[in-house]
This record gives sequence, structure tokens and C-alpha cells, in this order.
Amino acid sequence: MIELNEVTKSYARGAEELQILRGITLHIAVGDFVAIIGPSGSGKSTLMNTIGLLDSPTSGSYTLDGVATEKMSDNGLAELRNRKIGFIFQQFNLLPRLTATENVELPMIYAGIPAKQRREQAQRMLEKLGMGERGHHKPSELSGGQQQRVAIARALAISPSLILADEPTGALDSKTGIEVLELIKELNQQGNTIVLITHDHHIADNAKRVVTLRDGEIISDQRNEMLPTPARKLEGAVS
Ligand code: ATP
Ligand code: MG
Repeated sequence: MIELNEVTKSYARGAEELQILRGITLHIAVGDFVAIIGPSGSGKSTLMNTIGLLDSPTSGSYTLDGVATEKMSDNGLAELRNRKIGFIFQQFNLLPRLTATENVELPMIYAGIPAKQRREQAQRMLEKLGMGERGHHKPSELSGGQQQRVAIARALAISPSLILADEPTGALDSKTGIEVLELIKELNQQGNTIVLITHDHHIADNAKRVVTLRDGEIISDQRNEMLPTPARKLEGAVS
């Protein structure tokens, strides 16, 4: 689903060129759950912005669901992004003047979904996240964990093929963070492809695959063998 080949990203600083991503080759299959981990400044968010079509590579190629993105116009990229990708951010990024329901409706407005259908889908998504009774609340009337649930409902509203989460638990207390992480795992079990950015090894351990970045390069890429598989859970239930 994601094919990044030799992707670089540079910024000009005066006469200097700062290379932030230095030849990233990363292929991610449908249904996978990949954590991207690395120290501050290693290029994690830059990589996420690239995968999320918020930013274009300086060189290299990026194909998303079979669509080569290099030569696409900004409008084409925005359309692809709105159709395929759900974002979850550390600071939730809810619009403060809108209610929870209206926030969840936003991506559906961009996708051109009619009002009645939008409202119904928003309600369904809020219910799925245990926020069915909170649709009329503004973000300031909700706890951090509740706001992140609304943000996740919003990310799911258009049934994206890919969910990108940049430090989704970074602004939450540890108990709420674990709840949000469990929700993200559940989404993966339901078939959503997840890319989760974190600087925390404990959080990365929840993913099926852990990719480590340092100074804009992938220095390791490992399958997580420690995860309890659904099969193991079943065995436990039987015994
Ligand atoms: P953190 O864990 O702190 O969020 P990160 O791994 O997400 O870090 P990035 O945000 O990708 O790191 O930034 C990587 C480097 O690129 C940093 O040195 C940052 O200053 C630089 N950088 C990011 N965006 C820009 C930009 N628009 N212009 C210039 N430099 C940038
Ligand atoms: Mg970052």
C-alpha cells in the first residue's frame, strides 16, 4: 500500500542544504501496524508528512495504493489525501468552535458527502469510540482522552485505507494513553493499516513492525515477535 523508494527531503538554510530524510526506502503492506521510532529531530514527523501527502519529497518516489504521487498537482494530492488517509495528532487538532459531531463531519465535507449521511456517519463513529452521548460538546468541554477519541472518530469518518498517528498519546496521562493505544490496536485488528510515530519504545512495542529512524535514515526494521496473536489469545480462552 505504501511504497517509498529512496525518498529524500531537504530544506535550504542560507547557502546550506539541510537533508532531513536521507534516502528512505520503506514498503508497508495493507493491514500492517508499523511504529516509526527515533529520537527528537530524527525526521519522524517529516516522514509522516510525506506519507500523509502533506509534504512532497525532494527526490525519490512515493506510490500510495498503486498511485504514483510524484507528478500529481496539489489538488490531486489533496483529493487523494482526503479520500485515503485519516490523521491523528498529538494535540488532537480539533476545531474549538465546532462540536464533536461537526469536527467528525469535517473530512466528510471535504469528501463531498451529503449532509444527512454525514451526520449519521459522524454519530456512528462517535458511538464506535464510546462518545455517542457527547456529540454536542465542544472540545473545551471534553477531557484530553475524550478529545482524542473524537479525533480518532474524525480520522475514521471517511473509512480511510491508511491511518497515520503522530505521537497520539503524547498529550495524555498514561492510563488514557493506554486506552487510546488499545483503540488503535483494535482498529488494526479490524483491518486498518496503521503507521504510528513515537519516541517511546513501550508504545512502539504495540506495533507489529518497528522501524527505527536516526538522522533521517532507517537504521533498523524489525517484526515484533512478542505480540500476543489472536490465536494465542484464543488458546488462553480455551484452557
Ligand atoms: P520530534 O520527536 O521532536 O517530533 P521528529 O523526529 O518528528 O522530532 P522532524 O519534525 O521530522 O523530527 O524534524 C527533523 C529535522 O528537520 C529537525 O532538525 C527540524 O528542525 C527540521 N525541519 C523540520 N521541518 C522543517 C522545515 N519546514 N524547515 C526547516 N527544517 C525543518
Ligand atoms: Mg515529530
